[in-house]
Amino acid sequence: MSNNKYKILIVEDEVNIQSFIKANLEINDYQVICAETCALGMIMYASHHPDLIVLDLGLPDQDGMTLIQNVRKADTTPIIVLSARSNESDKVEALDLGANDYITKPFGTEEFMARIRAVLRSHRHSQETENTTGGLFRLHDLLIDYDKRQVFIENDEIDLTQTEYNILSYLSMNSGKVVTYAAIIQAIWGYSDYGSVKKLQVNMKNIRKKMGVTPGEKRYIVNELGVGYRMLEDEE
Ligand code: CA
Repeated sequence: MSNNKYKILIVEDEVNIQSFIKANLEINDYQVICAETCALGMIMYASHHPDLIVLDLGLPDQDGMTLIQNVRKADTTPIIVLSARSNESDKVEALDLGANDYITKPFGTEEFMARIRAVLRSHRHSQETENTTGGLFRLHDLLIDYDKRQVFIENDEIDLTQTEYNILSYLSMNSGKVVTYAAIIQAIWGYSDYGSVKKLQVNMKNIRKKMGVTPGEKRYIVNELGVGYRMLEDEE
């Protein structure tokens, strides 16, 4: 993949719209990554540093407005909201929170591409030479490099699957807090049903094993039985 391509993150749960936008962007030589939930969108944003985010507001886990707020706490990555909500107050809220543009569904391809180009252009002009640090998470001998999607323990890289990495990075972004099973499931898979708790537990078991943690040991991650998981903070 060439490095001079703009990388665009689409956060959209409707499959048809997601693939329509993706196809159009790729035809126009953009690199595209996708997320179906707000939480996964945050993970992708933190680990891939997209040049622009196309954001739906009606997402299964949280309102897209939350993502705007969270991204703006970190940096000025351009955000184009794509929403079926056409009322003024939603537009105002999104723009007030720091979205760069707002497109109402349904929309035409030409218009969409023109807005993408315009937002990228104006962002490039206004961009300062600020450096995004904070791409690392440390907990004792554990190191997560969000930029490279790599995890190390005592400088040895651990080989995680995509899902395992997503779970671990999600917990690390919420370190110190108990994250419920349902919240993790929604963040990673975008849906919630009882069967997926088992799936989550299997993944957690593999993550711990790969990290060299023996069952019952409270290293890095604490299992709050029947509730969820909590990643420790550095001082703990
Ligand atoms: Ca939606």
